[in-house]
Amino acid sequence: MENTKIILDENEIPRSWYNILPDLPTPLEPPLNPGTNEPIGPDDLSPIFPMSLIKQEMSSDRYIDIPEVVRDIYRLWRPSPLYRAHRLEATLKTPAKIYYKYEGVSPAGSHKPNTSVAQAYYNMKEGVERISTETGAGQWGSALAMACSFFDIECMVYMVKASYHQKPYRKSLINLWGAKVIPSPSTQTQAGRSILEKYPDTSGSLGIAISEAVEDAATHENTKYSLGSVLNHVMLHQTIIGQEAKTQLAKVDDYPDIVIGCVGGGSNFSGVSFPFLQDKIKDGKEIDVVAVEPSACPTLTGGEFRYDFGDTAEMTPLLKMYTLGHEFVPPPIHAGGLRYHGDSPIISRLYADGLIRAEAYHQTEIFDAAVTFARSEGIAPAPESAHAIKSAIDAALKCKKTGEQKTILFNLSGHGHFDMAAYDSYFSGAMSDD
Ligand SMILES: *Cc1c(COP(=O)(O)O)cnc(C)c1O
Repeated sequence: MENTKIILDENEIPRSWYNILPDLPTPLEPPLNPGTNEPIGPDDLSPIFPMSLIKQEMSSDRYIDIPEVVRDIYRLWRPSPLYRAHRLEATLKTPAKIYYKYEGVSPAGSHKPNTSVAQAYYNMKEGVERISTETGAGQWGSALAMACSFFDIECMVYMVKASYHQKPYRKSLINLWGAKVIPSPSTQTQAGRSILEKYPDTSGSLGIAISEAVEDAATHENTKYSLGSVLNHVMLHQTIIGQEAKTQLAKVDDYPDIVIGCVGGGSNFSGVSFPFLQDKIKDGKEIDVVAVEPSACPTLTGGEFRYDFGDTAEMTPLLKMYTLGHEFVPPPIHAGGLRYHGDSPIISRLYADGLIRAEAYHQTEIFDAAVTFARSEGIAPAPESAHAIKSAIDAALKCKKTGEQKTILFNLSGHGHFDMAAYDSYFSGAMSDD
């Protein structure tokens, strides 16, 4: 049998991140100051972000060196394995070859530490002593808590209320790594208090939690804000996923026809796909690149491409992106990490230019796919990642009909060990689709 697990040596961890900005066929439209409608500059962002990350956000360098300190921490779980899903292929009786890159091997259980470690490092370098952030399902909050503990930075996490109660063990993990976590909306911020006044029973949203975390950073001494997705520098840090996957596929003399990732704000999708999109843009490689989202929060498939706020309380700059409107509060589906009203401006641009495609699936069908996957490959996937699995399975079943032996690569962005309440709800028949 051909390889099941394609592993790399620690010295094959990429030495640089790949910045797709200089390769975009259409340049990004700049973020705007909502007061003046003028493009914002580095100084507008400096109250809430360290300058090194602001520079990366706006950089036109194609490759940016990964600091050795960050690369040394990456060694704890990287390079992550690439699996050939022989057993899933057999279950589906497909002629397609299915590969998945597994990011659940990180200590926090998802791809998020790839950027949290980098972000905490640059904050530490600039003398920042405290970082505030939001978290949806708790994966980002735990990833940043871990990174802050490595660099002795205090960390304050505003966690979407629905998830705070659905996923109590993510909260425990955040505490284990030394951070403080409270449910959002909270009474700690003006943004939180005014939402609670209007909607006392709200389950919260990422948009609201972002408002709280940004306000926290703007109103506390030596505190910066950190975002786990959406922004260009976050997409950048995740590109090590696709770079490694390319090297791993080359070792078995393969290359993908289809690349798939689930999309919340877009970071794991960017991570797996940008290094391949580089080949598509520059060398005309024919790759079908698929972004998968929940039907309950259909940002790309149902949103509008326009300027909008990144948060509910209108504190962030305006970003040109696909959006469902910054006041949209998605239903509390179990894939909490995909409940965001907007999307990365880069992904939005790629989608508008037809370089990527999008699909949306309902909650119960993605859990069907997760169960099929777990029973053939063994790994219990995060509900977010199950969106990518669903798309990969459908693509493989299509190959079964046509007899094509396509190579499918998807990113398994995280494990679902803290999502057992969601699986329980699925098995009890209580789960519904919106
Ligand atoms: C946060 C998260 C996502 C969604 O965020 P992106 O920025 O779109 O990647 C997907 N999967 C897992 C496991 C996550 O933790």
